Amino acid sequence: MSQSSSPPSPLPTHDRPDTGQSVEDATAQIGALYDAHCHIVDDAPEQYPLVDELQTRRLCLMGTRPRDWPAVRRLAQQYPHKIQPAFGLHPWYAEQDASPPAPRSGESGLWWLPMLRAYLADCPEAIVGEIGLDKVARDKETGERYDQTRQQEAFAAQFELAAELARPVSIHCVQHQGALVDYLLERARHATRWPTHIMLHSYTGSADTVKRLLRLETQLARASPQHAAEDRVCRVPRFYFSISAVINGRCRRKTQLWLREVPMERLLLESDIHEVGQVDALMEQVCQLVSELASTSLTIEQVKARTWQNAQTFFGPSTATCHRHKGLPG
Ligand SMILES: [Zn+2]
Repeated sequence: MSQSSSPPSPLPTHDRPDTGQSVEDATAQIGALYDAHCHIVDDAPEQYPLVDELQTRRLCLMGTRPRDWPAVRRLAQQYPHKIQPAFGLHPWYAEQDASPPAPRSGESGLWWLPMLRAYLADCPEAIVGEIGLDKVARDKETGERYDQTRQQEAFAAQFELAAELARPVSIHCVQHQGALVDYLLERARHATRWPTHIMLHSYTGSADTVKRLLRLETQLARASPQHAAEDRVCRVPRFYFSISAVINGRCRRKTQLWLREVPMERLLLESDIHEVGQVDALMEQVCQLVSELASTSLTIEQVKARTWQNAQTFFGPSTATCHRHKGLPG
């Protein structure tokens, strides 16, 4: 990690590089793009076949609430060469989905958690997401901010599930980075299991938070060297930071500041879009954005190659295969 006061080093490396590959090696993957976070399940179903025509080679499709998990799973089954599934409860829905469609007395606010566990068990390659904390978004109907207690309860339950199942996790965090870091620091006092990798998607936090998270990772690795070497369940997590044109393109200066603190092997690209037809254009735009804002001189092809390699590490190289699980809706 470079300090903001010192000149940036070329392609800053981290204590524990993920792949050992240089950018030059990685350029062997020229042209491949991995969309680390999108919502194309929300597009009109007649648009879904366009997935096969995308230049973007792979997409991680977020599930955001119980009602879209069946469709996410179906799309991952239908396009296994393209779609990496993710299942989770988005913080905007933590309140609405606190009660099941037909409330029963004594039902937990986390009634959906066993179902989420079943979806994840059904698809061993799926990651947990989109989960998170959001301090500013408001319910479109009521105009009220989303309930913080519900969000935190849902977030913690899903984070624990990701740790237990040793899955990567995709986190939405809007103006709540302090609460996220506090949660992680408190958890670090006792936890030995972590999600394998932790992505902050469309990251809009400060450069200082990047430094704090990477310091936490190093502390965990130093405190538990045996965990770093053991099986996936006990591995110390690695933090990744994902960038989108739609969100980060609107705050270029802030993005530039944090981007310069992120080791290049921890950067991911995403479209964060709902329409299949916009994925390729947004992925090209975000490559351009990184090329313009990165502390070192990177061509667009180098951005593609580096982030493709990073995604292979984050998601794993295998093709997702969701099984037909008896009892699961959809
Ligand atoms: Zn999202």
